[in-house]
Amino acid sequence: EAEALKKLITAESMTIDGIAVEISGNIANPKDAVHVMENGGDGVGLFRSEFLFMDRETAPTENEQFEAYKRAAEILKGKPLIVRTLDAGGDKHVPYLNIASEMNPFLGYRAIRICLDRDDLFQTQLRAILRASHYGFVKIMFPMIATYDELRSAKEAVQKAKETLKKLNQPYDEAIQVGIMVEVPSAAAIADILATEADFMSIGTNDLTQYVMAADRMNELLGNLNNTFHPAVLRMIYQTIKACKNAGKMVGMCGEAAGDKLLIPLLLGMGLEEFSMSPTKILKSREIIRRLDTRALGTLVDTVMALKTADEIKAYLETFSRRL
Ligand code: PEP
Ligand code: MG
Repeated sequence: EAEALKKLITAESMTIDGIAVEISGNIANPKDAVHVMENGGDGVGLFRSEFLFMDRETAPTENEQFEAYKRAAEILKGKPLIVRTLDAGGDKHVPYLNIASEMNPFLGYRAIRICLDRDDLFQTQLRAILRASHYGFVKIMFPMIATYDELRSAKEAVQKAKETLKKLNQPYDEAIQVGIMVEVPSAAAIADILATEADFMSIGTNDLTQYVMAADRMNELLGNLNNTFHPAVLRMIYQTIKACKNAGKMVGMCGEAAGDKLLIPLLLGMGLEEFSMSPTKILKSREIIRRLDTRALGTLVDTVMALKTADEIKAYLETFSRRL
């Protein structure tokens, strides 16, 4: 099978009925972009920039960050690179940020909540990403957006960084797209409102699932609850996709579910346009996409969304997948 999949490295991510999607990779550093290219990825749907900040004594400088984002952009040769701004806190410890210890770190001071508070940290990163946008197709994405105001403030910060660079005569892509992750239930609930300000959305099912189900993603005792197949999670996902499509905004997914062979047909049927995953899953996912006909997926979505439990949904999708 591995040999057959290799033939798909240069193939298009297109369904039988000619619907093109993007199958992209998630990366933690510029070198991972090489694996995305080797696996024929259509781009990077999630650069987890916090890894540049971890296992060191001080924050990376603007130039260090710029070099890393630029390198990834250049490796991708014009394919899209979505850089997620710092997602510190939760399970990702960045000691020099001096975040007080918390009872509930996943519900705590993390990600965009920190960045909106610490202008220096945020501006440095935004300038670095903007400068890299001159060397490829770079987009900015904010993690953990929960409210409309956060998105407005984060976008103002991008505007400020642009103005600084303009004064310094530093080139950047003026039309850079700015999007958000949908990984907090409140964001899914107001996806239509957020879609008025976001250029794109990417659903983060790892966090969205844990927050919708109130089940810590690190707790092995909660595997039954921490499961994206639950109808409650799938409704949030479907609602987000529909809100984006109604607003004409691009909608993707960069949580683990995007590379789940059982969920891919369902997500495609819901209208998902970009699937970003671990680079090792790209070819298998492309093979599945190329065997699907979206005209037949409306019925699949309706049937699945009428089921009552995660187990029923999983069993139904297993049967569907076997018959492909
Ligand atoms: C997610 O929450 O689904 C996601 C992609 O982000 P991370 O796994 O880095 O929290
Ligand atoms: Mg997340």
